[in-house]
Amino acid sequence: MGLLSEGSPLTWEETKNLADHVRKHGIIQFINLYKRLRDRQGDILKWGDEVEYMLIKFDDKAKTAKLSLRAAEILKILNEKEYNDPDNIKSLWRPEYGAYMLEGTPGKPYGGLLVHFNVVEANMRYRRQEASKLLEPNEVLMSLTNFPRTGAYDFTDPPTHPTPNSGASKSLFFPDEVIYPGHPRFKTLTRNIRLRRGEKVAINIPIYKDKNVSSPFKEDFSPFIEDESSCAAREDHIYMDAMGFGMGCCCLQLTFQACNIEEARTLYDQLTPLCPIMLALTAASPFYRGYISDVDCRWNVISCSVDCRTQEERGLKPLEENKFRISKSRYDSIDSYLSEQGEKYNDVPLIYDDEVYKQLLDNGIDKLLAQHIAHLFIRDTVSLFSEKVHQNDLEDTDHFENIQSTNWQTMRFKPPPPNSSIGWRVEFRPCEVQITDFENAAIVCFIVLLTRVILSYKLNLLIPISKVDKNMARAQRRNAVTAEKFWFRRDITSDAKKQDDGQPEYTEFTVNEIINGKDGIFPGLIPLVNSYLASMDVDADTHCTVQAYIKFIQKRASGELLTTAAWLRKEVVSHPEYKNDSVITQRINYDLLKKVQKIISNEISCPELLGTCMLSKTNETIPAAVAKAEKVPM
Ligand code: ADP
Ligand code: MG
Ligand code: MG
Ligand code: MG
Repeated sequence: MGLLSEGSPLTWEETKNLADHVRKHGIIQFINLYKRLRDRQGDILKWGDEVEYMLIKFDDKAKTAKLSLRAAEILKILNEKEYNDPDNIKSLWRPEYGAYMLEGTPGKPYGGLLVHFNVVEANMRYRRQEASKLLEPNEVLMSLTNFPRTGAYDFTDPPTHPTPNSGASKSLFFPDEVIYPGHPRFKTLTRNIRLRRGEKVAINIPIYKDKNVSSPFKEDFSPFIEDESSCAAREDHIYMDAMGFGMGCCCLQLTFQACNIEEARTLYDQLTPLCPIMLALTAASPFYRGYISDVDCRWNVISCSVDCRTQEERGLKPLEENKFRISKSRYDSIDSYLSEQGEKYNDVPLIYDDEVYKQLLDNGIDKLLAQHIAHLFIRDTVSLFSEKVHQNDLEDTDHFENIQSTNWQTMRFKPPPPNSSIGWRVEFRPCEVQITDFENAAIVCFIVLLTRVILSYKLNLLIPISKVDKNMARAQRRNAVTAEKFWFRRDITSDAKKQDDGQPEYTEFTVNEIINGKDGIFPGLIPLVNSYLASMDVDADTHCTVQAYIKFIQKRASGELLTTAAWLRKEVVSHPEYKNDSVITQRINYDLLKKVQKIISNEISCPELLGTCMLSKTNETIPAAVAKAEKVPM
């Protein structure tokens, strides 16, 4: 999302009454946009990452680490540079859900030369330093997927208090003051999602049953005994009741520009089966509300944290007021492929309004794209600003974006924005963010390389959507990288017609087999990347950097290196204060995050997480001669 425009949010009642208005005009806006841009050709590969950060405040006397709620102050200064000189900045900064969160992207997207891989990590480092300069003593910027004690007692600086009887969240644990205060969007979404649902969101994540966890594990929420929380909280689960538990997590995303709409649809589809694999490989969030959970990833937490479906839509009551039963939250894995090749793998029934679907078809949109858009538009708007109600459907796309940008899915198909030089893009959204710039750069470059390999070798990774859904569930389990198997296409290098040896099209592999290959059976994604790279001319520094990233990914996949989640668990359970009760005390949290800080600042090494010689040659600028020498884009 670009710089969030200011505005006055409508009440929920007003927003609800305009739901059909937004849908109607959103569809018309998409149709107009499509007619204008469907034939757009010749865009080149451009791409960029998004890294989200948290502000952590240490108190070395009290031995505490808390979320520092100063993001708005810091963002104001960071954005000044952009206002003054938008064309010459190396970074862009945006608000995020939490009052302690920042999102940073490169100042300009990267291009399609291999040599661009050499600046990714340096740019991430630049961003970290740039924001860190604005911090107070003892404040630290961290790319942590989740803060271990969010919603536990005394987790913010300055201290805040939940307001279960009033406000946007009405949470027992997550105060409204922890929501980003600088823009009304975040509180509005929080309130409207709760009101649309008809009750607070309910997130139940299995607790890690260490030997001193009571059985059953059941918390006492008095004096809120009569509260709906007591009903929603499940035994043996960590219960959470606010959007902030999910949207307050940080992630790593990337966006690619395709040469035209067809290529964008292909990339959208081909990257879909990789979402659960990359989620498992980047797993980094085992702790919630001060407890150790039995999952390693944030995905289901966020999914539940914005689940605005009513009881009718969730199938708990017969349909009366609502139109559809809906099987997923608006934050979830995608439900359908978009390319012709993907059509036969769309095995999950798609819910949509037949009239909307027909309107799209009648306007020349093919059925795969029409059903995708119609399916997104089963959702109501949950945030509407008075200034945006009436729009020029020939030019504006705000109503379309309103629904599109609140369908938070593993992949996003992004049409070109109005009046811009930007082409059709896809966004890859599943990854958890890692502690160091090295790790994040490695993941980002690996995915970009995979897109090139997929396109130039015409790989086919497709499996049925229902299998991708199964993989999403498996990916979040504890130690999924080493313990789970995932559905994956058996033969990704020859097309389906040729692959008729009587064997099923897909089978179950470990992440190691998918990434590194299985002798004689599966080539492995990294060997394919390496063979692609071998055919390219690349300068020595970039080669060295890319190889460091590839080795790192290989080792995470094989289990030689721990995932972030596994490492975080290990640190907590081996802490002297840990009592095998799955509780992360203030002190354990402090020591853990101090260690993270030392790893980020290179004061200590962490070979079990990062390996021993994981050094890249990353550099903030590309020498002109090197860029010139690399004539052929990827
Ligand atoms: P959102 O939050 O909707 O995903 P952001 O504006 O936060 O969008 O991030 C957009 C990402 O897309 C950034 O990483 C940016 O570098 C990248 N980007 C910008 N322009 C292009 C482009 N033309 N093609 C591909 N990626 C782009
Ligand atoms: Mg963004
Ligand atoms: Mg973001
Ligand atoms: Mg994004």
